[in-house]
Amino acid sequence: MIIKRDFYINGAWVAPANARDYQVINPTTEEPCAIISLGDKADTDAAVAAAKAAFPAWAATPPKERARIVARILEQYEARVQEFAEAISVEMGAPIDFALSDQATCLPWHTSNFLKAFEEIEWIRPLGPQAPTSAVAMEPIGVVGLITPWNWPVNQIALKAIPAMLAGCTCVLKPSEEAPLDAMMFAEFCHDAGVPAGVFNLVNGDGVGVGSQLTTHADVAMISFTGSTRAGIAISKASAETLKRVVLELGGKGANLVFADADDKAIERSVRRMMENSGQSCNAPSRMLVERSIYEQAVEKAVAVAESIKVGPAHEHGDHIGPVVNKSQWEKIQGYIQKGIDEGARLACGGLGLPETFNRGFYVKPTIFADVKPGMTIEKEEIFGPVMAMIPFDNEEDAVRIANDTPYGLTNYVQTGDQARANRLALKLKSGMVEMNGKSRGAGSFFGGVKQSGRAREGGVWGIDEFLESKGISGYDFSAG
Ligand code: NAD
Repeated sequence: MIIKRDFYINGAWVAPANARDYQVINPTTEEPCAIISLGDKADTDAAVAAAKAAFPAWAATPPKERARIVARILEQYEARVQEFAEAISVEMGAPIDFALSDQATCLPWHTSNFLKAFEEIEWIRPLGPQAPTSAVAMEPIGVVGLITPWNWPVNQIALKAIPAMLAGCTCVLKPSEEAPLDAMMFAEFCHDAGVPAGVFNLVNGDGVGVGSQLTTHADVAMISFTGSTRAGIAISKASAETLKRVVLELGGKGANLVFADADDKAIERSVRRMMENSGQSCNAPSRMLVERSIYEQAVEKAVAVAESIKVGPAHEHGDHIGPVVNKSQWEKIQGYIQKGIDEGARLACGGLGLPETFNRGFYVKPTIFADVKPGMTIEKEEIFGPVMAMIPFDNEEDAVRIANDTPYGLTNYVQTGDQARANRLALKLKSGMVEMNGKSRGAGSFFGGVKQSGRAREGGVWGIDEFLESKGISGYDFSAG
């Protein structure tokens, strides 16, 4: 059993002001794997005070020096990557090979992309030739509160803490109470990399406690949040009193438009993408819209792929998918499967209950519903499990209408052999991102949505800009140094 009750505040691990134990449950065994503490107001205040005190010196540290320190986090990661992946695997159920190859690697991937983008930032730039004495200076916003979810835990931390520190902000991270172990290792990486005391702080806690304390804190200038749309709304309201900048990455209900001229692998890669991480990805292509002429064939193929996906324990090697994160998530997914059946969708494979051979662990059968109609609950709501809805469409216009008829707008997908159509659809789909024919986002691109998926732009130069404020200056003389 891992016991990690302390918080990382002002460069040291400190005991909580009032110990309140919380058990982290291993979703494979349903047994506790760690004990942490949930912080309270005194802990949050101490962390914010440390970040506030550290801010002037860190903001004044030359950008190159900040980048040099942040880059050293990668050396710590490299020395402990196996342990890091094990922490993710045990806390949220990602199979160990996937935790190592896809989850943990989010840290070096984002960090190296941010370091590259960081070189492009012009800290003070001329407004333009029409106004020779006008300048725009970019300045760090101040103390930032970072609130992250459990599903891609390192990914979210890397997308927030790394650019915040590069920008010159100081921060307090509240990771998900479901997946705090990788976050605490990240704090150790920062410490060992020589990040100055107070620049990065971590307080564990829940949403109503540390989460709300950060969102209402007068000394926190910005909240960067990833999580559910429900919490995003609560955070926006709570932050309004102190007029913080609020940056939200929320849920999704991605549509994947599969045309009759799509390549042979389109169905297989789409189903695998859906089931990856046991369907617990905000950008999962959870609605597969298929051109009617190939619809039945596509259902058959999708079922064959889903049935070939193995489900198994997170600690075992292999390319299986693991359990979902916890009991309430498992029950929520079961509720959606039941709703799908009750509302008349065709259960093509998977379904209710644990997969055969398991009597514990929060496993969900890879499930496909065919003949889903727009407006059914499983078509509208984010399930966050390995459950895909298949819907036929008649033509491009019909497909776009169904795809866009959702409150969400994170990632949509297109599979077609007609590049002109792909280009056209990329502009017609209402989402922050569109991925076509299996091409994933390039290095230096951002991640972010529109509508109720939130409007953050995390990653690349956009992801650093989020932590900066622009200051308009007139009467500036660039030749004066
Ligand atoms: P969640 O909203 O329950 O919790 C996310 C974080 O917010 C946790 O740290 C939690 O403690 C905290 N929190 C909850 N309520 C809060 C409140 N009122 N004030 C302050 N903090 C609060 O989400 P989750 O279950 O951890 O994660 C799953 C959700 O995250 C899904 O909806 C998924 O789509 C979304 N998500 C979105 C993205 C994205 O980039 N768009 C990425 C990953 C996950």
